[in-house]
Amino acid sequence: MAEAVVAAAAQPTKLSYFDNMRQLQATAKVLSITKDSERVAIVSDRTILYPQGGGQPADRGSISSLNGDTTFQVQDTRMKNGVVYHYGVFEPSDSTFEAGQEVTLRVESQRRELHSRLHTAGHLIDVCMKLVGRTLEPAKGNHSPEGAFVEYIGAIPSGEIESTRVALQKEIDRLIASGASVNASVLSYDEAAGLCGGSLPDYISKDSSPRIVRIGDHTGCPCGGTHVDDVSSLTGLKVTQIRVKKGVTKVSYTLK
Ligand SMILES: [Zn+2]
Repeated sequence: MAEAVVAAAAQPTKLSYFDNMRQLQATAKVLSITKDSERVAIVSDRTILYPQGGGQPADRGSISSLNGDTTFQVQDTRMKNGVVYHYGVFEPSDSTFEAGQEVTLRVESQRRELHSRLHTAGHLIDVCMKLVGRTLEPAKGNHSPEGAFVEYIGAIPSGEIESTRVALQKEIDRLIASGASVNASVLSYDEAAGLCGGSLPDYISKDSSPRIVRIGDHTGCPCGGTHVDDVSSLTGLKVTQIRVKKGVTKVSYTLK
C-alpha cells in the first residue's frame, strides 16, 4: 500500500491553472500525505494552487474534505520534478485525509490576484521595452509585492536611462489605457517559437509543448504562471527605477 502511494505521488501533478487561471475552487484526489522537514505535505492528482516559481510567489489556500469536517490550511505550495506539494496544517490538528479521498481545493483569491497582477505587469514591461526600442533578452524577474523587478541581459547607455524610463512609462500607460487581452496556451514547439519571435530560450526542450503567454498580438514568451485577463486591470503600474550593472539592466516596478 505504502509503495503504491509513493508511486502515485511520483506522477507529475496535473496543473489545472495552466488551462484555467481563474478557477479558485476545484475537486481533486489525494495521492499522498507525508511529513517533510517538520511540515505536512499533501500531493493530489491535480491542483489549482500555483507553486512558487518563475519569480511568482506560491499560492495559499485550503484543502477540505467534501463534507467540510476536515480542512488542511495550505501555507505554501512548491513543485519538485513536476510534483506539486501543498504544505500546511490540519484543522483539527489530529485529523487527516486518506489516500484516494476526494477533496475540495480552494485558492486564497486576494493573494492570487495580487501576484497575477504583479506577474502580468512583468510581461507588460517586456512588451513595452521592445516597443521603446530596447530589444534586450529577458532574464530573471521577481513578481513579489516586496521589490518587484524584471532583468534583461544587455546594458542601456547611462545617458539614456532616464529617457528610457520616461518612454517606457508612457508606453505602459498607453497600453493599460487601451487594454489588451492576456492569453496563455500550450502549443507545439514550432508554433510556440513562431509566437515568440522565431525562437525559444535554450532551456525549453524541443520535444516539449511549451505554454506561451501573449499580450494582445505582441510577441509572446514561455511562462508557467498565472495572469490577469486584460492589461487594463494593471492601472497604477509604475516603473520606479532602471539600473544597469555588469551588463544587466534591472527595471523595478510597483503596482497600486
Ligand atoms: Zn507569465
